[in-house]
Amino acid sequence: MTKRYELNELIRSDNFIDGKWVVSAGGKRFDVTDPATGKVIAQVADSHAADARAATDAAARAFPAWRDTLPKDRAAVLHRWHALMVENADALGRLISLEQGKPFAEGRGEVMYGASYVAWFADEATRIYGDIIPQQQRGKRMSAIKEPIGIVAAITPWNFPLAMIARKIAPALAAGCTVVGKPAEDTPLTALALVMLAHEAGVPAGVLNLISASRDNAVPAVADWLADSRVRKITFTGSTPVGKYLARESAGTLKKLSLELGGNAPFIVFDDADVDAAVTGLLAAKFRNGGQTCVCPNRVYVQSGVYERFADLLTTRVAALKVAPATDPAAQIGPMINARAIDKIARHVDDAVSRGARVLTGGKRLPELGPTYYAPTVLADATPEMQLSCEETFGPVVPLFRFDDEAQAIHAANDTPFGLASYFYSQDVRRIDRVARQLEAGIVGINEGALASEAAPFGGVKESGYGREGSKYGLDDYLSIKYLCQGGLE
Ligand code: ADP
Repeated sequence: MTKRYELNELIRSDNFIDGKWVVSAGGKRFDVTDPATGKVIAQVADSHAADARAATDAAARAFPAWRDTLPKDRAAVLHRWHALMVENADALGRLISLEQGKPFAEGRGEVMYGASYVAWFADEATRIYGDIIPQQQRGKRMSAIKEPIGIVAAITPWNFPLAMIARKIAPALAAGCTVVGKPAEDTPLTALALVMLAHEAGVPAGVLNLISASRDNAVPAVADWLADSRVRKITFTGSTPVGKYLARESAGTLKKLSLELGGNAPFIVFDDADVDAAVTGLLAAKFRNGGQTCVCPNRVYVQSGVYERFADLLTTRVAALKVAPATDPAAQIGPMINARAIDKIARHVDDAVSRGARVLTGGKRLPELGPTYYAPTVLADATPEMQLSCEETFGPVVPLFRFDDEAQAIHAANDTPFGLASYFYSQDVRRIDRVARQLEAGIVGINEGALASEAAPFGGVKESGYGREGSKYGLDDYLSIKYLCQGGLE
């Protein structure tokens, strides 16, 4: 039987190191607030380098035994963790809504999504095959085996407080690695709750360690991991500048990195598209989490022949979206995460309007709901000079760019340093093949807006980073290959 917890029982405020809840070495705390109201939900440990070091020490002590645990036994622990997540999906979903602001249905959906990676990697743990290499010389036997890389440091963002960390911890533990982690300062509570459930599931002391830190103290805490040669891998989801910083700073100890960084996803609608389906797909892809995901379409290119019809249909559907606090069962879009986020959205829209964009719906804050709400927005006549064309807006704003031919659309779509997700709608099989091959992106949605799946490889190209999460490739990032050559066999 798995235990079902109340929401308040899941709220933890200390660090989890070596199987115990401990206060930070400096004894300091920082506030976690409800993004809708600014009200303090909890005060969590404000960790520093000493706490990061204690986590690494614990992970180093635990590594040999966890590495040598039978894969099927590691899998069993992960399956128990998965069961606990599913059993507690309602409370975890509410906790996500509380600290992150997404509507409850989406919060619960995120729990199930994150849990699906845990189940997936539990199974993958038992399938870490190596190779027997065909014999090259008499008397010699050559093989390749896969081993856990060692201690993994996981650093995650606020937009998916559960899924982002689950899809890093699960493959790391499946591979036999031990973990030190730091969730985003805006949303540490869900990650702490998840670690509590992992402990209950039987993850041994020291195998999984989590510290929280304010934005300022995250820098020295993570810097300790970057400089520590015992930490063999960094897995990070977040912004491109921070990803580049982590790559630079970990070069001193040549760590392996997985970086899932910013996107600037194009969404192309060709004249031969099913326009209704394209609108539905765009709504699914764009407005998840209020537009605050790295795979949200940021630039929507619509071919001239369907531009007006697409804009009309889209505007009607976007204007009908319900913006409300996460606790409102009818809410489709909640508050944005913080003041910095909403200021960026307003700046992008204002800049676009000042450069000639037309507001078809939205285009304003919603102060009557609270300081962090923004109306779902459609802008027509977007152009490449606008800020929202080159930077991720990370909010509920759809800019519509007009194009005339396929080459122009592909050029515009690829004209960015980023390459995470991309989408296009067309019913012409030859065009589908051509465009899918030409888009510079790690992920391509073809007549589909909902792409997430634990069975698929998620990750980017160019400055969106490297490494893949999920799928049969997802474990590779946590393994190293050892070549064994045995001689004297004749
Ligand atoms: P966002 O803009 O979405 O907040 P960031 O890349 O700034 O994305 O943050 C993602 C994660 O990286 C968070 O956990 C944050 O605390 C952490 N982080 C940000 N800056 C640094 C840094 N200089 N050193 C270590 N961690 C950092």
